[in-house]
Amino acid sequence: MSNKCPKCGAKLSPFYLKPNCPSCGVNIVQYGFDERLESDKIRAEKEWERTQEVLHRLAHSNRQTHIVFSADSRTADTCI
Ligand SMILES: [Zn+2]
Repeated sequence: MSNKCPKCGAKLSPFYLKPNCPSCGVNIVQYGFDERLESDKIRAEKEWERTQEVLHRLAHSNRQTHIVFSADSRTADTCI
């Protein structure tokens, strides 16, 4: 947790453990929770898209490898 209030910017002691800001009274822990949740969701979707792209490439490369092996010779095909 940072040492200042996310809403009003009041400086807080590192040992200030109460959930509310002493200056403005906002709940420091839950302030901006929806925005953080939305940014986490967007980041997770981008990571999932990248993972799907890697899996798609991997599956595609396996198909190419299979075609190369089967076109190369029958012995290579039976070795696999
Ligand atoms: Zn504050």
